[in-house]
Amino acid sequence: MPNFSLGDDVFLRAAELFPTPFYLYDEGGIRRAVRRLRKAFSWNARYREYFAVKALPNPSILRIMIEEGCGLDCSSATELEMARRLGVGGDDLMFSANAMPPEEFSLAREMGANINLDDISDIDTLLSHGGIPETICLRYNPGGLFGDGNAIMGSPKDSKFGWTRPQLSEGLARMKALGVKRFGLHAFLASNMLGEVYYPLLAKLLYETGKQLTEECGLPLDFINLSGGIGIPYRPEDRAADIALIGSRVQEDYLESFGPSAGSAVGVKTELGRYMTGPYGWLVARAVHEKDTHKRYIGLDACAVNLLRPAMYGAYHHISVVGKREAPADTLYDVTGALCENNDKFAIDRLLPRIERGDLVLIHDAGAHGFAMGNQYNGRLRSAEVLYTERGEYRLIRRAETQQDYFATLVGEGLPEF
Ligand SMILES: *Cc1c(COP(=O)(O)O)cnc(C)c1O
Repeated sequence: MPNFSLGDDVFLRAAELFPTPFYLYDEGGIRRAVRRLRKAFSWNARYREYFAVKALPNPSILRIMIEEGCGLDCSSATELEMARRLGVGGDDLMFSANAMPPEEFSLAREMGANINLDDISDIDTLLSHGGIPETICLRYNPGGLFGDGNAIMGSPKDSKFGWTRPQLSEGLARMKALGVKRFGLHAFLASNMLGEVYYPLLAKLLYETGKQLTEECGLPLDFINLSGGIGIPYRPEDRAADIALIGSRVQEDYLESFGPSAGSAVGVKTELGRYMTGPYGWLVARAVHEKDTHKRYIGLDACAVNLLRPAMYGAYHHISVVGKREAPADTLYDVTGALCENNDKFAIDRLLPRIERGDLVLIHDAGAHGFAMGNQYNGRLRSAEVLYTERGEYRLIRRAETQQDYFATLVGEGLPEF
């Protein structure tokens, strides 16, 4: 089920305080998600979640993650700088970039981050930009299709990320000669996975590949990094992943691969984004236009620049109308934004209660990869972000963009003042 954990009164009150559109995040929901996750992996004394900053890069949210014991997973200089300003460095930081400017390695090394290398050629880049650390993490791409007898989950052969299996052997041997003492193994082979199969299957692959690499090169496997990929129930028929069951299955595989005497010699790390914040964010918009032509349209004051996923991936986001939870969903709508792009639609052929102009419309489960993917196409600006705190306060954590923000980067001669 999509997340309905906050009552309509919360959104009504928020919309009295802040003009629509805006994002509203539920602090309590986020904290509870982190705690469920940490409990599920508490069997591993070295377990650590590094929140994927790109999913929701707002310092007020990152601070919640830090308070709950998470590290941060960054993949750009700007994300690293945000972490630095929050006082996060060293082992609390993971740097998982690909095809990035080499200087970003220098920055990540200077901050003492765990370095996750995406490619064998990164060895030379790292050598000349910050140097090779004693602990290195490698991102594995096994190629082919990833899945089990029941389902194909992902298609690593088509993915730009990671090293091939032979490259892992070659690169690790080389890095041993360069002073590496231990290694971690990372992979991200499928996204938004519901059910309880993906992480255990991935863990097994990483445990076994790690063991083989240790035998080959003599370096110990320090940790596996299961990265992101746990899904959330976007659709009414979806069931939330049972994180406790996932954790205990990853443990069973651990025991099978390393035996009970291994203790927590091999750490387990994750870099979840969507699971952590996805359900706990709503895009709050207002119906501003209605149109009845070949189809029936409701136009919102939010559009695809505020939430790109439907336009970009055809992703489903549940929509509800404040005050009409119990009303019959008897009207077929396309729910649109104002962009001059026909794919600027939050929903196509969606049965919803009858919507009036002025109604508050909630787009659910937008708390990850939502605001963060925003842009300013058509001169439509980024919205505000509001945190609904555990104490019931509404705290502005990012103001809405203004035209001045949009014009601020313009330079040019002979122009009027911008
Ligand atoms: C995007 C990303 C994540 C988070 O993925 P989710 O699907 O949000 O869990 C984690 N690690 C890396 C390297 C990523 O690029």
